[in-house]
Amino acid sequence: MLEQVAILGSTGSIGCSALKVIAANSNQFEVQLLTANKNSQRMLQQCKEFRPQLAVMADQASADELEQLIQQEGLGTRVLGGQEAVEQAVLADELCLDVVIAAIVGAAGLLPTLNAVTLGKKLLLANKEALVMSGDLFMAEVQKHGTLLLPVDSEHNAIFQSLPVYDNSGQVNLAGVQQILLTGSGGPFLDVSLDSLTNKTPEQACAHPNWDMGKKISVDSATMMNKGLELIEACFLFNLSIEQIKIVIHPQSIIHSMVSYIDGSVIAQLGNPDMKTPIAHCLGWPKRIQSEVEPLDFFRIASLDFRPPDFERFPCLALAIDAAKIGKNAPCVLNAANEVAVAAFLKGRIQFTQIAQVIKMSLDATPVETLENTTAVFAMNQKARQTALDMISELD
Ligand code: NDP
Repeated sequence: MLEQVAILGSTGSIGCSALKVIAANSNQFEVQLLTANKNSQRMLQQCKEFRPQLAVMADQASADELEQLIQQEGLGTRVLGGQEAVEQAVLADELCLDVVIAAIVGAAGLLPTLNAVTLGKKLLLANKEALVMSGDLFMAEVQKHGTLLLPVDSEHNAIFQSLPVYDNSGQVNLAGVQQILLTGSGGPFLDVSLDSLTNKTPEQACAHPNWDMGKKISVDSATMMNKGLELIEACFLFNLSIEQIKIVIHPQSIIHSMVSYIDGSVIAQLGNPDMKTPIAHCLGWPKRIQSEVEPLDFFRIASLDFRPPDFERFPCLALAIDAAKIGKNAPCVLNAANEVAVAAFLKGRIQFTQIAQVIKMSLDATPVETLENTTAVFAMNQKARQTALDMISELD
């Protein structure tokens, strides 16, 4: 029996990589649902190749365009449009899903991903922002519905692979673990002069030395906010305290993270920096399947380097660690302010170094409070986004 797959955010970097893995394993997987925001042309190509039952575009005009193109091509795919349609997509009557890949970028992914959790099936999580925003509430839903949650993020996937797993429930065993070593490349600005950071352009920030990713996560990698979000993500995914996680800069992105044990052993997961590997690992788990990623050639790796993070260079990382320590609504505010600041930077409205400023001002302006339910999470997200927009106006 083929496993029936949905990809939320199929036209993005992770979505496209996931479809390549599925194409390489077409004897095991079939695509039932694809969703995107506006990219109707890429969605059309994906519908032609994978023939899903349902394609959903958050942007209504793009959905209308896609529907017309699908009719012209004579494809059988049903098309829906609107943000709510994306949010509800995995619950559509005609679908019978085994696997959902959550790969929408940012807070827009939270509700669609939470709905995928309620299916109680296999959920491959790339959308780290969803977990950062709603942490304990998200994990409680996973528990409640018996969902098999597998981490696509390469670092978390590496940690998952380096920890003993109890059984096919995917629960990890932390007995004997001393520390989680969360690696990060340091991004494109690891070695540039501190003075030059102010004038870095969006193009320079998105030119990651090792990974080919969407724009938002590329900027997050340049500020190292990405590592901060990942630290919070790791705490929730593996039930860890912040003190159990050490961030290690590893510029080559060959080791994707490590686990050290009390007997002195360190177990690492290595591979070429290509997201098809963690996607294939999750899709096939607990078995291994083909990813079509080049095997790692140790004779071509000149060296593996490591250093501690520099918080003067990466103030966003320090802000994320602080937010993680505060907990409650702080990670949600951090995430919302970061999304707004990164979007403003990509539009040329603020400078690279002002991203951290906007986030700090937004955190300082928001009282700490507990978010009791997802309604409170959405409200806090909206409020923090508005606060960040106000801070950006003050900087103008
Ligand atoms: P991209 O920007 O490349 O793709 C984002 C996807 O989400 C696209 O399909 C986009 O559609 C869709 N989308 C955007 N906004 C909305 C919206 N409002 N409603 C519905 N769909 C929307 O992002 P990435 O693939 O790089 O990243 C996706 C997620 O995976 C992020 O959370 C990121 O942090 C995480 N991740 C990414 C990695 C990577 O290597 N790229 C590595 C690890 C984690 P459209 O194309 O139409 O705009």
